[in-house]
Amino acid sequence: MLDIKVTLSDHLKAKPADESALGFGRIFTDHMFLMDYEAGRGWHDARIVPYGSFAIDPAAMVLHYGQAIFEGTKCYRRADGGLQLFRPGDNLARMSRSAERMCMPKLDEETALEGLKQLIRVDANWVPHKEGTSLYIRPTMISMDVGLGVHASKKYLFFIILSPVGAYYKEGLKPVSIYVEDEYVRAVRGGVGFTKCAGNYAASILAGDIAEQKGFSQVLWLDGVEQKYVEEVGSMNMMFAYGNKIVTPRLNGSILPGITRDSVLKLARQLGFEAEEGRLDINEIFADAKSGKLTEAFGTGTAAVISPVGTLALKDEKVVLGDGGIGKISQKLYDTLTGIQYGRLPDENGWIVKL
Ligand SMILES: *Cc1c(COP(=O)(O)O)cnc(C)c1O
Repeated sequence: MLDIKVTLSDHLKAKPADESALGFGRIFTDHMFLMDYEAGRGWHDARIVPYGSFAIDPAAMVLHYGQAIFEGTKCYRRADGGLQLFRPGDNLARMSRSAERMCMPKLDEETALEGLKQLIRVDANWVPHKEGTSLYIRPTMISMDVGLGVHASKKYLFFIILSPVGAYYKEGLKPVSIYVEDEYVRAVRGGVGFTKCAGNYAASILAGDIAEQKGFSQVLWLDGVEQKYVEEVGSMNMMFAYGNKIVTPRLNGSILPGITRDSVLKLARQLGFEAEEGRLDINEIFADAKSGKLTEAFGTGTAAVISPVGTLALKDEKVVLGDGGIGKISQKLYDTLTGIQYGRLPDENGWIVKL
C-alpha cells in the first residue's frame, strides 16, 4: 500500500510548558495515523489526520468480544536535536504475532512503519527535550464488525497515537517493591500471555490494586499451573543476578517476549556478563535472596527500561535485595541501553532507526 494521505490539523494544541510535569500517557499530539482492513480487500486508506474521537457502533465486536491488541515503543531526541526510534520493526512484527493468535489480520508492517515515521515528522515538535523524556508511541488494532455472535471480525481499524512522556525516574533509577501474587494468575500456557492483547491487562488490574493496598508497587506473576515458577511483572519481564550471571524465565508462551528483555540479554553478553534463560522456582529465588546468593533483581520494559527491585514479598515474608538500592548490573544495563536509545552511545546491533 504505502500511499499515505495527510490531512493537517488547523487547530494545533498548546504544547506542555513544563516538561518535568509530563507524567505518562496523559496528553496526545496533534495528529494520528489510521488504516482500515476488510477481508478480501486487505489494508487500505492509510492516512494521517488530526487527533480526535472516532465514532464506533455500540455493536462493534471489539466492545463485546475484545479483539484488541496494542504495542508500546518510543521516539527519543538526541542531544543534537535529531530524532530516533528503537527497534520499531520488532514491535510491529510482535503485533502481527499477537494478531495471528487473536484471529486478527497480519499488519501491513511496511505501511505501518512508514506511517509511524511520517506521523512523527508531522508532530516532531512534540518530542520533548528534557533528559529522560520521550515520545511514547501506541499502535493499536481493534475489530470493527457490527453484530453479536462470537467469530472473527472481517473489518479492523489500526491506529497509532503519540504521547509525550516524562522521565520515568526523575532522580535517577529508583528501586521498587514487588509482591508475589499467589492467588490470581495472569496467563496460562496455550492462552494469550505472549500477546499484547487488551484482555490480559483487564485481567491483571485486581491483583495490582490489592498489591498497591498492601503497599507494593508491582505484582510478580507466577505460572498458571503450579503457581511456582516466575513469569513476569506487570508490564515488565523479570531478571535475577547471581554475581556476574543473569537469569530470566525462558519464553514459554505465557510471558510476553519483551524487546527490552531481548536487548538486555544481548547487551549483557556483550558487556561480559553471563545470561541464561530457564525455569525459575520462586521458592528458590526467595531462599537465595534471603541467603544473599541472589545479588540483584530487576524488571525490563519500554516504559522504565530497567526497574531495580528493592524488596520482594512472598506470602507474609519480605526480603530486601542486596542493600535495597540499585545494583551494579542494573545500573550498568540502564546506562548502556538508555545511552544507545538517546544516541549517547554507538548502536552496534542495528537497533536504531533515525528519522
Ligand atoms: C509490554 C510488556 C512487557 C515489556 O515488553 P517491551 O517490549 O520490553 O516493552 C513485558 N511484559 C508485559 C506483560 C508487557 O505487556
